[in-house]
Amino acid sequence: MTLAHINSWIFDLDNTLYKGDDIFFSQIIGNITKYISRYLALHPTEARILQKQYLEEYGTSLSGLMAVHGMDPADFLDYVHDVDLEMLKPDPRLYAGLEALPGKKYMFTNGSRGHARNIGEHLGIYKLFDGIFAIEDVDYIPKPKRSAYEKFLTEYDIDPTCALMAEDTPHNLEVPKDMGMATLLIAPDGGELPHYVDMQTFDLPAWLQVFT
Ligand SMILES: [Mg+2]
Repeated sequence: MTLAHINSWIFDLDNTLYKGDDIFFSQIIGNITKYISRYLALHPTEARILQKQYLEEYGTSLSGLMAVHGMDPADFLDYVHDVDLEMLKPDPRLYAGLEALPGKKYMFTNGSRGHARNIGEHLGIYKLFDGIFAIEDVDYIPKPKRSAYEKFLTEYDIDPTCALMAEDTPHNLEVPKDMGMATLLIAPDGGELPHYVDMQTFDLPAWLQVFT
């Protein structure tokens, strides 16, 4: 497919702009379990079950905790995203590829603003983005809910038919495709792609190289 018409490049953060290996993400997942356990006075095993259940039903565990228990999100977000970034290494190919893209660049994450800034600055790419849209900006109603994409597009006055969205979670590309965006799935080869995925790569920096 041709990308000549694309002037807005939208990137998910986790496992899209960088690959967090299991050890890295287990820090966040473990922090969420600890927080739920403390907040609801549950055994960690029960907390983990609830965490997964809310993730499936509400898109993020946080959204479930807010909807069902009326939890205040700020303290939760600070707590769960407090992780050791030492194992994540900046990739000069990613910086060069993002910098060379013709048009505006956006980060659109279901994580918090603080998380986007921590990781983005650690990877040295934060300043390349024209806009950062995080869970606070969608009123805690995350992708793949249509309202999240609508808020994002309105905020930055983006024409979806001139936008590309890159994501590692296939389901998060369904609404963007329906809205007219080009879609790029970050995933290993193999298996049939969903109809709403236009392109696929497991190496985003390599994919971006064509623009440099
Ligand atoms: Mg992701």
